[in-house]
Amino acid sequence: MIQPLVYKFGGASIKDAKAIKNIAALLKKRWTNGLVMVISAAGDTTDRLENLIDLALQQKSFDKELIQLLDFHEDICRGLFQPGHGIFARVDNQFAQLRRTLENLAIKEDSDFFYDQVIGYGELISTRIVQEYLCESGLACLWQDARELVRTDSQTKMAKVDWALTMQYCRRALFPKLEKYPVVTQGFIGTDLLGNTTTLGREGSDFTAAIMGVSLGASAVTIWKDVAGILNGDPDIFPDAVKFEYLDFEEAAEMTYYGAKVIHPKTIKPLAKHGIPLYVKSFVNPDAPGTVIGSFGQAPRIPITIFKSQLTLIELRILDLSMIGSFHFEMIYEVAKKLNWRIQLVQASAAHISILINDIPVTAEQLAKPFREIFRVKSKAGLKMITVKNPTDAERTHYRKVAENLLLEQDSPELIQWVYEEYSPEA
Ligand code: ASP
Ligand code: MG
Repeated sequence: MIQPLVYKFGGASIKDAKAIKNIAALLKKRWTNGLVMVISAAGDTTDRLENLIDLALQQKSFDKELIQLLDFHEDICRGLFQPGHGIFARVDNQFAQLRRTLENLAIKEDSDFFYDQVIGYGELISTRIVQEYLCESGLACLWQDARELVRTDSQTKMAKVDWALTMQYCRRALFPKLEKYPVVTQGFIGTDLLGNTTTLGREGSDFTAAIMGVSLGASAVTIWKDVAGILNGDPDIFPDAVKFEYLDFEEAAEMTYYGAKVIHPKTIKPLAKHGIPLYVKSFVNPDAPGTVIGSFGQAPRIPITIFKSQLTLIELRILDLSMIGSFHFEMIYEVAKKLNWRIQLVQASAAHISILINDIPVTAEQLAKPFREIFRVKSKAGLKMITVKNPTDAERTHYRKVAENLLLEQDSPELIQWVYEEYSPEA
């Protein structure tokens, strides 16, 4: 019986011919039956497809942008294959289909459904190129349409996985193939019961890797990235960030909740539930150990700093003299649920509640409306938050100093959060 293993490669790892050659070299040293490679769209293809979708929906010409995207992919192919290779025709063919979908569906369908039918082309095309190149390099492998494996409901842009069906389809389709060859498949896409393409949300390929890992009972899932592993802060914002060798599932899940962008938030829970370790490794330096996320019990209490932006603070002050009670919380959570708010933080005192949510595209007026009868409402959008887990006195002093217009502070021995109008690390 083979032991499945899942590797996920993101857009940056296959952004040009050189990057794909690097992936092939990395794989050559690790090639084994049982390997499932989950692959994203090349480079910034998904952003470019979003742009094409916008243009098509506005009935504007998208010719130039579509040709540029084709050029980008042909360029990759030219760097990998001899002229006249069959891959050029296959990529052309995919682009012809993409063009037809853009032309025909944009007028007829609702825009989010249309989005789902178009956006997955990035993955469908990139996986063809990578699979073909691996085969040419002596790494024989199969191409698998992920839509035959990942079954979802019909919610557009953020479909929910039907785990029972997906597990069944993954096992049935993949086990016989993996006995003979490794498999290349797409991240991010699935199908609903009607056979329409669905998507798992932007950056959803990490989640696909977890879905495959859990479905197949993989020994591990590895996400190959352009960073050394998981750091205790975003190195662009916190230059002194250090890498974790080990990280507990719980700690990693919390980090993604507070805004760390290393892994897609939905990835960790299913892996933790099934005890499948998640490796985050560098495709630039593949022999380095990276970070392993697993169940280690007592994790080291290293300070972890997470930066998050695009937040809105809503401040509610009770109008009459009744004090805050469970009724008020119920009301707030009901509104939050109905309007799909993502609550980041709640703070309450006798007559006052502050709620921090992700920015949403509504005016302050609209935001205030559901609360007006009971509260005086103030809100402010575009805010930033710093979260420090396991803070020491050094972080406490530092982040209070760099605060510009500190709007809210939450401080407990395990966690500190500051909400700022501006955050300037140089201050
Ligand atoms: N290509 C998709 C995106 O960029 C999915 C992914 O890369 O995870 O959002
Ligand atoms: Mg991506």
